Amino acid sequence: MLLKAGWDPDADGLFGAPPVTVFIGADAHSSLFSSLQLIGFGYRRVTTIGADEQGRMRPDDLESAMAEAGGPKIVIAQAGQINTGDFDPFGEITTIAKAHGAWVHVDGAFGLWAQASPRYRHLSAGVEAADSWATDGHKWLQTPYDCGFAIVRDRAIHERAMTQWSSYLPAIGQGDRVPSALVPELSRRARGVPVYAMLKALGRKGVAELVERHCRLARLFADLLGAEPGIHIRNNVVLNQVIVSFGEGAESADITKAVIARVQKDGVMFAAGAEWCGGWVMRLSVMSGATQEADIEISAAAIIAAWRAVQS
Ligand SMILES: *Cc1c(COP(=O)(O)O)cnc(C)c1O
Repeated sequence: MLLKAGWDPDADGLFGAPPVTVFIGADAHSSLFSSLQLIGFGYRRVTTIGADEQGRMRPDDLESAMAEAGGPKIVIAQAGQINTGDFDPFGEITTIAKAHGAWVHVDGAFGLWAQASPRYRHLSAGVEAADSWATDGHKWLQTPYDCGFAIVRDRAIHERAMTQWSSYLPAIGQGDRVPSALVPELSRRARGVPVYAMLKALGRKGVAELVERHCRLARLFADLLGAEPGIHIRNNVVLNQVIVSFGEGAESADITKAVIARVQKDGVMFAAGAEWCGGWVMRLSVMSGATQEADIEISAAAIIAAWRAVQS
C-alpha cells in the first residue's frame, strides 16, 4: 500500500510515511495486535470495526469507517473466530475494501482449512479475493508447532520485503526459487518436511475428512451439553468451536469459572475459558486428529459431572 502511495517502506521505514489505516474486527485474535506492534504499526493505531454476536465483522460498519478514512488502507478479516469458529462475510468485506483500494489480509489460523471440505467451503466464500492469508499447519493439519503459512498474492511484493543480498551469497538467476528470499531468515529448519508429510499422508480427502469429523463432533458436543438443564451453548456451532456457559444471570461468570476449575481438577479432559459478550464461557475446540466420538461422549459426561458437582 505504501509503494502505491509513492513511499518505499523496505528502504525508508515507517517514519515520515503516509499514515496507513488498519481496519480490524472487534473480535480479532490478539496475535494480530502483536504483529502490528512488531512491524511498527502499533496495536492502538487501528480502526476497530463492530462485530455481531458470532464475532463477525459488520460490513456496514466497515463501509462507513472506510468512507471516512483517507490514505492507504489495510483490512484484516478473519476465517475462524477463536470462540465461535465463525467467519467474517468475505464477499461483502472484500467488495467494500476493494472499492476503497485497500489491501485485504485474512487471519485464517485454523478456519481457512474449512476450504478443504466441500461441505464447509461455503463458510469462507469470497476469501479468495483477498491479497494475503495466514494459516497454521500446527492446528488443523496436525503438524508440529511453528509450521505456519503466509500466502501472498503478489509474489514480487512479498520477495521485495523479505530478500537480503550479500556478495558471499549464491547469485540468484531469473526465475530461481530461492527459499531464503521468501522468509526473514537465511537459515531455518525445514518446516516444509512435516507439512509435506502430513499433506501426503492425509491427502486431499483426508484433510477434508479431518475437518468434517471435527465439525460433526463439535455439533455432537453441543447437543450432549445443551441437553443438560443449566448448560447454555452460546454460539452457532458452524465449525469446530463450542462455547458454553453455566447457570443463570449475574452469577453465571463465576459459576462457569468454577465448572472450568472442576473440569481441570478432575483431569478427564481439558477446557479453559474466555470472556465473551461481557460474560465468561468455557471454550471447547475439537481439533486433535486422534479425537473420536467416544472422546466427545466421555468429555461431555465429565463436564456435566463437574457442573452437577458445582451445583451441589
Ligand atoms: C491460533 C490463532 C492465531 C495465532 O496463531 P499461532 O500460529 O499459534 O501464533 C491467530 N489467529 C487465530 C484465529 C488463531 O486461532
